[in-house]
Amino acid sequence: MRDGVFEAPGRINLIGEHTDYNDGFVLPIALPHVVRVTAARRDDDVLRVESRQADGVAELRLAHLAPGVVTGWVAYVAGVVWALREEGHPIGGFGLVVDGNVPLGAGLSSSAALESATALAVTELSGVSLDRRSLARIAQRAENDFVGMPCGIMDQSASLLARERHALLLDTRTMATEHIPFDLAPDGLALLVVDTKAPHRLVDGEYAARRRDCHRAAELLSVPALRDLDSPDQDLPDRLARRVRHVVAENARVLAVAELLRGGRIREIGPLLTASHTSLRDDYEVTVPELDVAVDAVVAAGALGARMTGGGFGGCVISLVEDTAVEACTAAVKAAFAENGFAAPDCWTATASSGARRADLVPTTTV
Ligand code: ADP
Ligand code: MG
Repeated sequence: MRDGVFEAPGRINLIGEHTDYNDGFVLPIALPHVVRVTAARRDDDVLRVESRQADGVAELRLAHLAPGVVTGWVAYVAGVVWALREEGHPIGGFGLVVDGNVPLGAGLSSSAALESATALAVTELSGVSLDRRSLARIAQRAENDFVGMPCGIMDQSASLLARERHALLLDTRTMATEHIPFDLAPDGLALLVVDTKAPHRLVDGEYAARRRDCHRAAELLSVPALRDLDSPDQDLPDRLARRVRHVVAENARVLAVAELLRGGRIREIGPLLTASHTSLRDDYEVTVPELDVAVDAVVAAGALGARMTGGGFGGCVISLVEDTAVEACTAAVKAAFAENGFAAPDCWTATASSGARRADLVPTTTV
């Protein structure tokens, strides 16, 4: 097989923020929005990459790929090819054309979608068979070691493993998964997404700083990871104590939400979503005014619960709302943003969609 089209979705995390790099649980869904990679094998040793969403065409010799050599958006693609080759997989030259509709840098994980679509494309077309968990790990390695962003494994796992109408409960320590039904429409509910458009401020440095805090706290408490603590209240210097309180309580909230969803008690997850936001605002300190205003506005307008999703410092807020209240909540957020002098947000509702797939083959049905 020489060419093909592969799609990988962006994601929304329902709950479990900043738990993945603490070996904890996360609960994302895949979005209908995808990054699409049209890929063709080449007979030479050149990786050629272009994107409809970004400037420039890159032509790179495979042998020259190394961390630090490639910068900008091309690094997400080249990093995947580099990571695969580092691990001994025979990936040769490729021409890759990227297109998609996952908003870039909005906290919906366009980066993992790009990595995941690339990983699926170049492995399938090279006859390299790796399971989805291995592809997620390769994609994460590309982002950690080639792009230089110390992210956890959640985004790539969501993009590669999620299923339609289900949330993905992922234990990031063991990579054990459970697909839990998450289908809101039959219950008269909707997941309203508010893309705050808030400009990211200091994201990379702050993210790494939170990771360092968690690592230091785990060291002081003599546990392998914060996931191993039973109590959110630990005797530590103030800042570290608050970081720990968020991570431990958030991990427990993920499990509580999963249990409610298993029991079909969807409305009851609302207060847990809002508690997650409060914790991210006060203890973990990763929100910005736009996120807090959006949460307060939808909750005041009748949402069952709301929280920021993604790493923070901008990006999106999700809220669980009665479908009859979508309009009122949307209007409330827009009014609150105008009042505060913020740029107009984008508001839309999301459904849990499927993970990465090949998109150019007509499925054959057997009767
Ligand atoms: P997020 O993953 O939340 O969207 P990131 O900052 O992690 O935000 O990743 C965004 C980056 O991913 C973009 O700045 C760009 O470099 C790269 N990217 C994502 N999608 C595309 C695309 N379709 N074309 C080119 N680059 C992309
Ligand atoms: Mg990203």
